[in-house]
Amino acid sequence: MEFKNPPTQAIKDKELYIFDMDGTIYLGYNVFDFAIKFINDLRAAGKKVLFFTNNASHTVPFYIEKLTKLGFSPKKEEIMTSGDVTKVFLHRHRAGKSVYLVGTDELVADFKNDGINIVDGDSEKVDIVITSFDTSMTYHKMDNACRLVRNGSEYLSTHPDFNCPTETGFIPDSGAIAAFVTASTGKVPTYFGKPYVETLDMICEATGVKKDGMCLFGDRLYTDIALGARNGVMSVLVLTGETSADDVDRAKPEERPTYVFDSLDDVDRLMFGDKE
Ligand SMILES: [Mg+2]
Repeated sequence: MEFKNPPTQAIKDKELYIFDMDGTIYLGYNVFDFAIKFINDLRAAGKKVLFFTNNASHTVPFYIEKLTKLGFSPKKEEIMTSGDVTKVFLHRHRAGKSVYLVGTDELVADFKNDGINIVDGDSEKVDIVITSFDTSMTYHKMDNACRLVRNGSEYLSTHPDFNCPTETGFIPDSGAIAAFVTASTGKVPTYFGKPYVETLDMICEATGVKKDGMCLFGDRLYTDIALGARNGVMSVLVLTGETSADDVDRAKPEERPTYVFDSLDDVDRLMFGDKE
């Protein structure tokens, strides 16, 4: 992208740089080397870094291992998922309630370890049904979720993404699973993750950084960029994932990025010059 007035200082002035993962710093296991360099440059400049993904099919220990393997050297407190935001909501606003969670074994174990009252889907009545990005989803699980929601359970979802980008194309994500439940029951879930304000509140609380000190990087308009646009936080769209330059022209005001760059490589060059 060519800028008449490059926003170098505006981006440099921030304290915390928040990165989406899929499509922004890697695609599946194909890491973008320039993303590693950019994040290293930010760290060397004394900036804070946070990795936030809506992809709740995995949990923080998995992402620590994956990001370490790919070369990002993350610390535990630098990683958050939409599952973490959902857990915080349950503890604060639904303490002790019974929950049927349609998620991967990894996510279910994580909720249980965190003290959430997880119950079996065959139960006659539960307080809350949560659907997520469940790559082990079965008809039996969906039948239980729909029955419980139809019978009055509150319905939540960890994140709204319809598809997850991978090396080989899109695979159905949490939003597609929720659409199945909505089609059967007529009930729309309350979503967490990006672009919902609970996510930003959790990031502010965990990092101690205010909204005007943050810059969000992501590849998707309706989650990453909308989190910034709806809440007054600087957002940078990169075109290395699911969004094209044409999509940006058609974007709704509440999903419009502050800046658009081809990739994090261009942001790195703008902030730190061309030096290797
Ligand atoms: Mg993404």
